[in-house]
Order: sequence, then structure tokens, then C-alpha cells
Amino acid sequence: MRWSQFFIPTLREVPADAEVVSHRLLLRAGMVRQLSAGIYSYLPLAQRVIRKIQRILREEMESIGGQEFFLPALNPREIWEETGRWAVMGDNMFRLKDRKGADLCLGMTHEEVFTGIARHELRSYKQLPQVWYQIQTKFRDEARPKSGVLRVRQFIMKDAYSFDVDAAGLDKSFNDQRAAYQRIFDRCGLKYAIVEASSGAMGGSASNEFMVKTDAGEDSIATCESCGYAANLEKATSRLAAISDDTMPGTNAPEEFPTPGVRTIEDLTTFPGGAAANRQIKTLVFIATNEAGENQPVLALLRGDHQLHETKLADAVGAIAVRAAHPEEIRELLGANAGSLGGVRAKEIAQASGRELRIVADQALRNRRGMTTGANRDEHHLRGVDVERDIMVDSWADLRTVASGENCPNCEAGTLAVFKALEVGHIFKLGTKYSASMGARVLNQDGKEVPLVMGSFGIGVERIMAAAIELHHDADGIIWPRAIAPFDVVVTVTNTKQPEMVATGEKLYHNLRRAGLETLLDDRDERAGVKFKDADLIGIPYRITVGKKITDNAVELFDRAKKESIDVNLDDIIARVQSLALAGR
Ligand code: ATP
Ligand code: MG
Repeated sequence: MRWSQFFIPTLREVPADAEVVSHRLLLRAGMVRQLSAGIYSYLPLAQRVIRKIQRILREEMESIGGQEFFLPALNPREIWEETGRWAVMGDNMFRLKDRKGADLCLGMTHEEVFTGIARHELRSYKQLPQVWYQIQTKFRDEARPKSGVLRVRQFIMKDAYSFDVDAAGLDKSFNDQRAAYQRIFDRCGLKYAIVEASSGAMGGSASNEFMVKTDAGEDSIATCESCGYAANLEKATSRLAAISDDTMPGTNAPEEFPTPGVRTIEDLTTFPGGAAANRQIKTLVFIATNEAGENQPVLALLRGDHQLHETKLADAVGAIAVRAAHPEEIRELLGANAGSLGGVRAKEIAQASGRELRIVADQALRNRRGMTTGANRDEHHLRGVDVERDIMVDSWADLRTVASGENCPNCEAGTLAVFKALEVGHIFKLGTKYSASMGARVLNQDGKEVPLVMGSFGIGVERIMAAAIELHHDADGIIWPRAIAPFDVVVTVTNTKQPEMVATGEKLYHNLRRAGLETLLDDRDERAGVKFKDADLIGIPYRITVGKKITDNAVELFDRAKKESIDVNLDDIIARVQSLALAGR
């Protein structure tokens, strides 16, 4: 490509509303333009990167037996009703009607459609395993589209689905995908952690996320340097030092006492006759929604100095979503304000107003006694609470958010560090959730009909592109990992008024392309400084500078990542760049 004819609308200014680095650089490098909130156009330079990522995805999917499909983005309501996800997907699903009034949606993911094909076509274990995938556009009406192309409402996903006859088959398919994902991210130049994650609305038993550590991410992960433990904060646990209640006076029942002005855990720590935060019970009211769309109030109890993780709560009660109850809902349920709530007698109080309250307590409250908590009466608390004696806990669960510096749950010596991270890929063991609800069954070795055992595996194409920028950039611009760079090399003719330089540039351009290298020839009538700046900004791994040195039969080879130039003889330059570029693919 000749830069003079190639559309790269670079910007000098940093766009004011772009906060994350990848967003700023994608705009400045002339790669993307926003059409509307969370909707972007990809310009030619971005499209080249996207195609390279897609090629890697295809190669790695095919290396594990993946077969490429292309399913419709436009889906009828009926197939989503079969799995209950027409309701479950809520506001995230884009919905529309056709001219006859029938309901349709734009696909957010394709478990339903793939399972629909499997149920009609797969009959026997002899046809298994099947690994099906596609690279296709997904639509999600995200609540907060942001950070450029990191969270958009229309994006490209490689989604794969595996179909096996049993759990052992799924294990193999899952491990194959996991290994393929590692190769994909390695090839794309991403450093990542593989973490345990919640399966959320997808269902199923196990899931791993591929997380790139970057402040641009919206997730948090906890990792242990010592043993390699890594988990999404929605799953991470830690080992807590035990607290002894031996010195606490024994009581026969909780004792109520007035606490005027006390609204928070913190308030009670300084209130005369109050309690340290780790001797208090934090009481939170949530409304949990299940798959059928039913709402139930839930009381979540934690140690006073601990923070709730909402996803853990949702997982603990089998909800697809939880939200904090509004002050009026809390008052209706327990007859007190949020600052005076507690688990003691909470079920009875709720029942009196005809409501079924579920109580979930965090594991750190097990066997605790001599605790202080709200009395469900404004400005009153209870002391001497023995959690197991006095509170009708329905279930115990890990509800707590771990914090940096806590002990690793997996090894003796390590401590946890918590990082911001960006999810680039997510692999699930779905099991039979979709095949059972949709009736996708095959005959197994014993001639018995069993539901297909499924996995589902997703990667966001734009997320890879943007994550690569988040990890690889400097003050001058993008530094593309070689395998996904839009071009292998740019040939910069420093002075287009010099016929010899132009001729050398043209010859190099021709020969580099003949050698199989994707080459951009900067033949623009611009100052050399401008050309260098633009080349740095768009981040091509290698630049060959054609300047005065051609009189010595030499050009400069500039390495964008190392920011080093060396002089190379014109006779050697092609082979040199070829070996560098090929090593990166
Ligand atoms: P997130 O937690 O970030 O919303 P998700 O769990 O909804 O992601 P999946 O449904 O597992 O994501 O989708 C698979 C992959 O698709 C993700 O790992 C991510 O790379 C990409 N992806 C998901 N949502 C978006 C989005 N709104 N914009 C861009 N890429 C996305
Ligand atoms: Mg999402």
C-alpha cells in the first residue's frame, strides 16, 4: 500500500472524551471512528489488524478440530424462549419486531442456535466430539458502553461450542480450547492470567477467564506470586486469621441497647459500649431475581470489616441478578432503616408482613459469638449475639471480597495481590444446561439416550486489538505485536523530491512485497519528521528509512519496540526484515 493513497486519518490532538489509552490511540492512529455510543466503524488500518487476529483464531480453532460455521445474527424469539434466556437476558438484549409483528432479537451469543442445529443433526456418540465455531458480530445493549472498543454494543466474537457424549469428553474439549486460547493470546502478544470465574447467567460447572492486567479493565483479579493462584474477585478466597471469642462474656440471649446516631459499622466502633468492626455483623438487604423472573429478598450477613461481593451473593442464592434493596423496601420488610438491621428475628419480622426472607451468612461468621448487630429497630442494636444460636441462617457461603495482602488460600507462604484486569476470553463447561432444556440428545455407547454435554468458548476480537495497545504503547503511539500489526514494515522515503530516494523506495517496496511482507510505502510529500511521527503513532514494527545514506548503499532499519536504528546494506535489508517479521508470526 502507498500511504499517499491509503486512508489513515491520523489526529494530532488527543480526543478529550477518550479516557483509556487504547481508545485514544485507536482514534489518533486513524483506526476507528465512533458512530454512536458503543458503536464504532473500523477503518482500513483497524480492519487489517482485525483480519490478522481472525486468521490466528481460525488457525488455532482448526488445529483442535474446530469447524467454522456462520450463523444468523437475527434470531427468532422462540429459540431463546426454549432456554428461558429471552427473559434472562433482560435489557442487554436488542429486540425488534418484523413486519408481521413477530419478535426477533440480535444474537448476544449463540448457544441456542448451535444447540438447535445439534439437536436435529446429531444422533449418536459416534459422531462426537463436534467442535463448532464462528467469527461473527454480537449485539449487546451494554448498560455502560465505554473505553472505546473495550466495551461496545456491537462487537466481533469468535465463539466455539463443543458437543460430547459425557463429562470426560467435555474435559478434553475444554482442555483443548484452553490450550488453543493460550496459543492465541501468546501469538497476539498478550500477557494474561487464567483465572477461575463465576459462570453467572451462562450456567454450567466451571469456567476460566483469560485476563490481561491493565487499569483499562473493569474486572478485578487476585493472584498469588508464590503459587500462581489466580481468580476473579467474584470467586477469589483467602485464608483469614481466626478470631477467638473466648474472652467474650457468655450470654443466654442477645441484649438490646440504644445507639442514637449510629448509622454505620464505623459509627458503632467509636460508640460507647459499641464493638470493633470484626466483632460486628454487617447486614445487607438484596433483591435476588431467579431465571423465572421471580424476586426474593435476601439478607446477606458478613463480618463488619468485610465487603460483600455481589456476584458471590448471586451465585450463592442461584440468582441471575441481585440488586441492593431500596430504603422503602427495607423498611417494609424489617421495619427499620439500613443502619439498624440485623439477622436476629429477621425472618419472623418479614413473615409478619407476608414475606419470605432468605438469610445467607458468610463463612467468616461461623461459630462467632458475642457479636453486635442491628436490632431491626431504629437506633438500637443487639450485643451478645451468637450467630448460630440466634440467627436462622439458611445457607453459609463465601460472600466476602478478598483484599490485597490477605493470605493465599492455596499455599502456605503467599499473599494475594489484587489487580484491575480486562477479560479477553472466557471458556465454560456448560454441561447439559442447554441440551437438556432444548432436547438435544444422542445415543451413547450403551444405546441409551443422553443429553449432549456442552462447552462454550468466547473471545472478543476488538478486545484483543485494544488489549494489545493497552499493553504495548509508549508516548509516541502504538507498538504492535508483530503478528497482529497492520503492516510488517513501512518504507519511509525522507525526501520525495529526490528521484534516487524515490526510486530506491519503490524498489524496496516491490521487493519486500515479493518477499511476502506486508509493506506500506510512505511516499507522501511531507517532511521526514512528520512521516516518522505518523509511523511511530500507527506502530508498524519496522521502518526502513530511505535517506541520504543510499549514496553508501545503505538504509536505516528502525525497530519500533526497541526504538533503535541500525544501518543496513541495501543488499541485505530484505532478508533481514523478512527474518525479523517471520519470527514474530
Ligand atoms: P464482560 O464481563 O466483559 O461483559 P462477558 O462475560 O459478558 O464479558 P462473554 O459473554 O464471555 O463476555 O463473551 C466472550 C468475550 O467477548 C469476552 O471475553 C470479551 O472478550 C468479549 N466481549 C464481551 N462483551 C463485550 C463487549 N461489550 N464489547 C467488546 N467485547 C466484548
Ligand atoms: Mg458482559
